Amino acid sequence: MIVNQDIDIAAGYIREGRLVAFPTETVYGLGANALNPLAVAKIFELKERPSFDPLIVHIASVDDLDKLTVNKDSRVLLLAEKFWPGPLTIVLPKSDIVPDIVTSGLDTVGIRMPNNPIALELIRKAGCPIAAPSANKFGRVSPTTAQHVKKQLPNVDYILDGGKTQVGIESTIITLNENGFEILRHGVITREDLESFVPFHSGRDTSDSIVAPGMLKSHYSPNKPLYFLGDVHLNDMQRSNAGLLSFNTTDTEGYKIVIPLSNSGNLREYAVNLFAAIHKMEESDVEYIVAEPVEEHGIGLAIMDRLRKAAFRYRG
Ligand code: AMP
Ligand code: MG
Repeated sequence: MIVNQDIDIAAGYIREGRLVAFPTETVYGLGANALNPLAVAKIFELKERPSFDPLIVHIASVDDLDKLTVNKDSRVLLLAEKFWPGPLTIVLPKSDIVPDIVTSGLDTVGIRMPNNPIALELIRKAGCPIAAPSANKFGRVSPTTAQHVKKQLPNVDYILDGGKTQVGIESTIITLNENGFEILRHGVITREDLESFVPFHSGRDTSDSIVAPGMLKSHYSPNKPLYFLGDVHLNDMQRSNAGLLSFNTTDTEGYKIVIPLSNSGNLREYAVNLFAAIHKMEESDVEYIVAEPVEEHGIGLAIMDRLRKAAFRYRG
């Protein structure tokens, strides 16, 4: 495995059908030529990802939409103009050149243009769209540095090191219906951001967002238990064995480690620091992690989605 910053070499690897972990603004991705099914198969193998969980395809030019989709929806171009490059994935009807393994057999494909100069140059130099899930073992905490990738995927061919990612959690995923957009996964681009351009229309009776395939209840799992601050289970436990991911609370006495996720009460900062803080807790000798919940509004929805999934394994 090579950890370096040479985009030409990494692009060559992609062209040869090998895997490259690379930075995006959200988290590090594990990339392969999206049009080469054998290369894409290696992603599932290395991540131990179930084949029912479709991958997002990353592009560097809006023109690629014409090749990858059979979409003629003007709302897509509007959203692309407003939010790309950026952490927004749009699920669209796929064209025949997108292999089934990328979409888990669905006739739709999730596409986004990442807002990271290294990622964009890699895609351009490789000369193909890049299919990439997060560069971690399936179900585990997403990587926000090259070191996190190395820890979880020591067998990846090449890691392009672009430092710490800027957004820290995965993209918002939407799909379009005839009346508006639905959110399949929350991210830092919020319903309110999108509503300025396209109406929200879930097409369902409930205001809950629907669940995309592969969105499991347990995900982003740390290698030790994670509880929410205020959980009754914590009443019987020793703070001196715990690590606290703090946000607003001033009651931080007695914990073995305290990692403040934002010093200014900023949810964007909470999102940026969340996975890195969980990686730190994994590497430390704390026995369990306590995370301070946030209000489920705006970016808070995305943060609570990740935290609930991280906590799930340890609940009844
Ligand atoms: P990841 O690459 O791990 O950040 O997650 C990709 C996620 O995007 C999958 O787990 C799905 O939930 C969602 N996704 C990708 N493609 C599609 C699609 N065609 N339809 C619906 N959801 C999708
Ligand atoms: Mg992932």
